[in-house]
Amino acid sequence: AKAAGRNTYRLGDSEADAAAESSGLLVAEMKGAMKRGDFLLNYQPIIDLATGGIAGFEALVRWRHPCKGELSPSAFIPLAEESGLIVPLGAWVLKEACREAAAWPEPLRIAVNVSAIQFQQISMEETVRHALATSGLAPHRLELEITETMLMQKSDTVCRTMERLRSLGVRIALDDFGTGYSSLSYLHQFSFDTIKIDRSFVAGSENPKTVAITRAIVALGTSFGARVIAEGVETEEHLAFVRTAGCTDVQGFLFDPPLPAEAIVPLIESGRLR
Ligand code: C2E
Ligand code: CA
Ligand code: CA
Ligand code: CA
Repeated sequence: AKAAGRNTYRLGDSEADAAAESSGLLVAEMKGAMKRGDFLLNYQPIIDLATGGIAGFEALVRWRHPCKGELSPSAFIPLAEESGLIVPLGAWVLKEACREAAAWPEPLRIAVNVSAIQFQQISMEETVRHALATSGLAPHRLELEITETMLMQKSDTVCRTMERLRSLGVRIALDDFGTGYSSLSYLHQFSFDTIKIDRSFVAGSENPKTVAITRAIVALGTSFGARVIAEGVETEEHLAFVRTAGCTDVQGFLFDPPLPAEAIVPLIESGRLR
């Protein structure tokens, strides 16, 4: 009867239940992976269009999963955010990225993605200070990439932490710009060192509206003195478009994919710096 009962339950089980079960498993696996050191960072060059050299790198997290192979962030970051694991994982990312970047010559920068949940923690400022102190990386070489969703909550903790970090000299970038619904109001309320234009705009050079919006975004950003990075530059056409639109920097497969840590110093030494 017990087995039947369980079967009945199983039959009525929704896909949502199965999904919850497998995501619970993934969260448990993530905890183990953190202990074992199965997360790693790749680094994608950001190219300064004025010099043609590398201005810095964006750190992008990967999970070397024992059975599923290398997992991209979309496979685990949302779950890490839901479960709160993003706080320790994000702290590891910050520490590791700063440690790696400290070995690169000045003035190369490291950009680190930070999720809203991390910024809501009172401990965030201390986490960043710790990553800088243990690595010896100068604060102005660290840029934190935040998204509009993070600013949506208008929490005091988020605003205060952003201001404190900026006064330390840490740079703040607004990521995926233009994909949210009140982008302009954030430009009004906060100051950013960098604005990153989402690749949906970069790839839209055949659409006159997209072209006009992209030009306006770049003009606005540069008029505030911010750097404006075009993301997802895959073709010469994309590059020509964002260059004429006035972007200061570009990032994308046309130049380099995200690269393993060991590839960075040789790349820098190969003379792509300037
Ligand atoms: P993002 O911050 O917008 O990062 C850019 C994504 O575009 C990366 O995907 C990168 O590999 C990809 N990309 C770079 N160049 C090109 C290109 O030319 N064409 C195309 N189609 N794609 C390109 P990835 O590494 O899969 O990361 C996805 C997202 O995961 C990131 O989007 C970011 O939001 C998030 N993420 C990555 N690492 C972290 C992290 O350490 N912490 C947090 N909180 N989020 C992270
Ligand atoms: Ca980013
Ligand atoms: Ca982005
Ligand atoms: Ca994105």
